[in-house]
Amino acid sequence: MSTYTAPIRDLWTTDVLVIGSGSAGATAAITAAREGVTVALVERYGFMGGISTQVLDTFYGFYTPGQQPRKVVGGVPDLVVDELLRRGKAVFRPNTYGAGQGITYDPETLKLIWERLATSAGVRILYHTFVVDALMEGDRVTGVVAINKGGFVRLKARVVIDASGDADVAAAAGVPYESAADGPVQSLTTTFRLLNVDVARARAVRKEELHALMARAIEDGYALPRREGSVHITPLDGVMATNMTRVANIDATDPEQLTRAEIEGRRQAEEYARFLIERVPGYERAVLGGLSTQIGVRESRRIFGAYRLTRADVLSARKFEDAIARCGAPIEDHHAGSDTVWQYLPEGETYDIPFRCLLPESVEGLLVAGRCLSADHDAHASVRSMGQCMAMGQAAAVAAALAARQGRPPREVAISDLQARLRAIGAII
Ligand SMILES: Cc1cc2nc3c(=O)[nH]c(=O)nc-3n(C[C@H](O)[C@H](O)[C@H](O)COP(=O)(O)OP(=O)(O)OC[C@H]3O[C@@H](n4cnc5c(N)ncnc54)[C@H](O)[C@@H]3O)c2cc1C
Repeated sequence: MSTYTAPIRDLWTTDVLVIGSGSAGATAAITAAREGVTVALVERYGFMGGISTQVLDTFYGFYTPGQQPRKVVGGVPDLVVDELLRRGKAVFRPNTYGAGQGITYDPETLKLIWERLATSAGVRILYHTFVVDALMEGDRVTGVVAINKGGFVRLKARVVIDASGDADVAAAAGVPYESAADGPVQSLTTTFRLLNVDVARARAVRKEELHALMARAIEDGYALPRREGSVHITPLDGVMATNMTRVANIDATDPEQLTRAEIEGRRQAEEYARFLIERVPGYERAVLGGLSTQIGVRESRRIFGAYRLTRADVLSARKFEDAIARCGAPIEDHHAGSDTVWQYLPEGETYDIPFRCLLPESVEGLLVAGRCLSADHDAHASVRSMGQCMAMGQAAAVAAALAARQGRPPREVAISDLQARLRAIGAII
């Protein structure tokens, strides 16, 4: 329960309230509104997309890896991809580490698309607003307290979806979770883009050659903590994008640690850009053309839910009765060392994401979606791709809409109803 002495203004009451507009929250808000319930979406930045527009440019998880890629995400996420393709602002691009077919897009166009889909579905968006607390009645979450330039505000809803990535609402509501204090979490990455690249020459440099050039540069004194990583084409002429920097052992929910990580991430980005420009063919005339809005956080809080997805579930391609989405992505662990550890599912296989991973232990009225789901560290390193975050957002939204309309907690929504509705809107389960 809130203990603030500052006045708190009542703002909106809706059927569904989504916190965070990343791949999971954006898809959740759009889906819930399309399901015909009233929806509010609260976001701390002034645009939608979370990591999908702040940091990255490639959706993975839509397709299984391997020789015969199979599409395993569908429904509202397709609307996003189809619109990117229609505008000529996305290209298909296989992952060179075996994570499957990716869809590389222009993040600025994606900002427009997320927002257009949300506003046209009727989502009420509130930007520049940071959620600081959960409103509780007994063990039920009834809304949130947030802060913005207008002061503290209260937003209420029948069902709240925590898609903050860091499980901010769940943590405030007392849901147990694991974070950096309990074991390893993945390292963080500041991404950057290079403009004015001779793309034909740059893309002729194979991954192994790039890494050999990197190793030589390190011997010559360049400060490059990660000895691999990728630089890839984009849909824009002369622009290459990177995933190279590495800041390890950071608790991203600790603002002092996160501040240090931001400074270190940008310092590394400048150094990796210097390496590319000075040492790699095709980049001779390139300029550093954009740093990620913030450092990319792969993993922070993972809640404990009614079920916890495990490494064994992932590697054995386990199926569940309450499946709401599928995933074929490998475990991709950006640990504190200089490389990345990959572990693959059996060729062409997928595992199911159970609805129970979105249902927090101990509280009602709340669902989580996206990278704060209930999973162990290794399972999380597979299930966190944006395709799966969108699929989780879509499922949480359909469950929330059913719960709101039926006047029951999300936990009591019949799985058969949820799965039938998901299939009806194109989800692949
Ligand atoms: C460096 C990096 C590289 C990656 N590479 C890929 C890749 O190539 N392809 C891929 O598919 N996946 C990749 N991933 C994983 C994937 O991007 C993420 O797991 C996924 O985007 C998470 O989506 P989300 O919606 O759960 O969270 P986020 O995208 O983190 O969204 C959370 C949203 O909530 C907002 N928010 C947070 N707290 C609050 C609050 N208290 N109040 C209001 N708003 C709040 C944030 O601003 C944000 O918009 C990568 C991740 C990182 C960090």
